[in-house]
Amino acid sequence: MISIKKAEKILASIPVRPALEAESIHGTLNRILGQDIRSEIDMPPFNKSAMDGYALNADDKSDRFRILEVIPAGVIPLQKIGAGQCAKIMTGGVVPEGANRVVKREVTIEEEGYMRIVGEDPTMNICFRGEDVRTGDVLLRKGTWIGPSEIGVVASMGLSRVLVYKRPIVGILVTGSELVAPGKPLEPGRIYDSNSYSLRSQVESMGGIAESAGIVLDSQDGIRSALDGLLASCDLVILSGGVSAGDFDYVPGILKKIGFKLHFEKLAIKPGKPTVFATRGDAVVFGVPGNPVSTFVIFEVFVKPFLYRMMGHDYYPEIIQGKMATDFRRKQSSRSAYIPVRHQKALVEILPYHGSAHFHALTRANGLLCVPEGENKIAKGSLVDVRSIQ
Ligand code: AMP
Ligand code: MG
Repeated sequence: MISIKKAEKILASIPVRPALEAESIHGTLNRILGQDIRSEIDMPPFNKSAMDGYALNADDKSDRFRILEVIPAGVIPLQKIGAGQCAKIMTGGVVPEGANRVVKREVTIEEEGYMRIVGEDPTMNICFRGEDVRTGDVLLRKGTWIGPSEIGVVASMGLSRVLVYKRPIVGILVTGSELVAPGKPLEPGRIYDSNSYSLRSQVESMGGIAESAGIVLDSQDGIRSALDGLLASCDLVILSGGVSAGDFDYVPGILKKIGFKLHFEKLAIKPGKPTVFATRGDAVVFGVPGNPVSTFVIFEVFVKPFLYRMMGHDYYPEIIQGKMATDFRRKQSSRSAYIPVRHQKALVEILPYHGSAHFHALTRANGLLCVPEGENKIAKGSLVDVRSIQ
């Protein structure tokens, strides 16, 4: 058995080759940026009014100000502001020459072409040229995950296409002669295949492309030919089930037979001990135990960071600190355990969880609590780190 740290080290040592493609701005949500985005303009590009009001010189203490012109947003002012003068200006408008302050409309009175200030407005109400961004500033780094605000930044730079990393194609192969596809009747002794669907969603939610081989019976030939099929078209393959020590757990043997190097086969982790990681040239295979919580947890902890690396992104899970709402105890402590928890208002609640087949336990969970190897008790009130799974 090897530790989580060791397994992470092995995974990090496997070379990957992220590839780039140009994508229109609409298609970049949830993708990884493949170029630095530098600003070619100052932002704002001109001194911009932050208010509807009147632009004037802050040192001008005149009783009233003659209104030279009206400046809507998007229109270049025609006149320079002198003593006793102002321009009526709208939010977003270009502040005219000679003005360094905008008095907001609410504290003014306008009559017969003049404006008088009748209230207090201590702020300047101008966003100055280059105050947010200067020409040449790097706004987004290569490798950044692209969400709605990043898309906004790309658009604000006037770019309609950017380089992003290609989405890896991830083959999903679930093994088990007991498995039935949802939508079909469940005969005695059989269970529905849920891993195909949860794995596909995990892959897709991080921007990968999932290709499913469907359910494959526990037969050496069947697994081998389905695996060969996926290897021909996928960048990475996840096999679920068939990795343990049962009579029909063929996956590790098949991988060895077809020339894969098994980097690990047993992890000091619960759930997920019989996890297999294997490579052959560029081909990468994870074999995860079939119990749904094991499959889910191993994806989160090991497959996800690896897949992100294939997409040019250094993934660090969000870690949230909280206090244990109750005591936690366990009998065995030879492996690190990942326990489904709910963290809310800095409290960490251990959810009812009967073991790795209890997938339902994950639906209320928003985090995984890692209980380290050797520890079998965490006292109520202790500060713990929770790995977010949202
Ligand atoms: P295995 O890893 O093949 O020994 O399977 C461990 C347990 O997980 C068994 O109870 C299987 O029936 C169950 N299981 C395996 N594959 C799936 C799947 N795709 N969906 C739901 N449960 C599964
Ligand atoms: Mg099985």
